[in-house]
Amino acid sequence: MNNVARNVERVRERIGEAAARAGRDPDEVLLVAVTKTQPVAAVIAAYEAGIRHFGENRVEEGEEKIPAVNSVLRSGDSHLGSDCHLVIWHMIGHIQSRKAQPAVAHFDYVHSIDRLKIAHRLSNFACQLGRTLPVLLECNISGESTKFGFDLMGWEQDTARRDAFLAAVEEILALPGLDVQGLMTMAPLVDDAEETRPVFAGLRALLEMLRERFPTHEWRHLSMGMSDDFEVAVEEGATMVRIGRAIFGELR
Ligand SMILES: *Cc1c(COP(=O)(O)O)cnc(C)c1O
Repeated sequence: MNNVARNVERVRERIGEAAARAGRDPDEVLLVAVTKTQPVAAVIAAYEAGIRHFGENRVEEGEEKIPAVNSVLRSGDSHLGSDCHLVIWHMIGHIQSRKAQPAVAHFDYVHSIDRLKIAHRLSNFACQLGRTLPVLLECNISGESTKFGFDLMGWEQDTARRDAFLAAVEEILALPGLDVQGLMTMAPLVDDAEETRPVFAGLRALLEMLRERFPTHEWRHLSMGMSDDFEVAVEEGATMVRIGRAIFGELR
């Protein structure tokens, strides 16, 4: 077994253990392997280890890598036949407005709807392609100015902030090209992963609030947890974890 395959196996075990601690079914947690900065060969190694969901945080990188990976899978070089249609590409990073069109063209799923404007643009391009794009709303729960996302620090007390978000959500839910499936967040970098727990619990509480406010809409997903904190995120209800370094090694 190569390193990537071993790491994928270990991450799956750790997800299973965290799910068990929380009394959850580990099959509820989708593992998205984050391939930013990684070469096509590393993506193929992860594919051969059973990964079908991949994440990139820059549209430009995806525009190059996704067709390159798909052509390898289509040629059968992966020894697994031509099933590149089974691969789902997730856009997990901030999308500049001028990159909305290639984002829709190359990606299957977007985690990073962080403002109204990008929601409108992605919806328009998805409609032009006759598609509905599944998306998540990125929420900045920790209040760090370096993070993108709807500003939701302290939303439980701050009703003005909560209401501004609810108005944005209502507008986004009405867009014909998007299928809003849940929420995404990034926890702050901390020494002890345990410190991230309030952020993940806060995102779950926000999803529950949205379920009450928009009861006819299906609020399914919580995308939260990265290499350093995914076990805490799974304990707090993550349905998608986005893992780079724990699978591919430190960033190159
Ligand atoms: C890079 C990245 C990840 C994965 O981070 P690791 O610490 O390498 O697991 C997850 N989410 C986003 C938005 C990222 O940019």
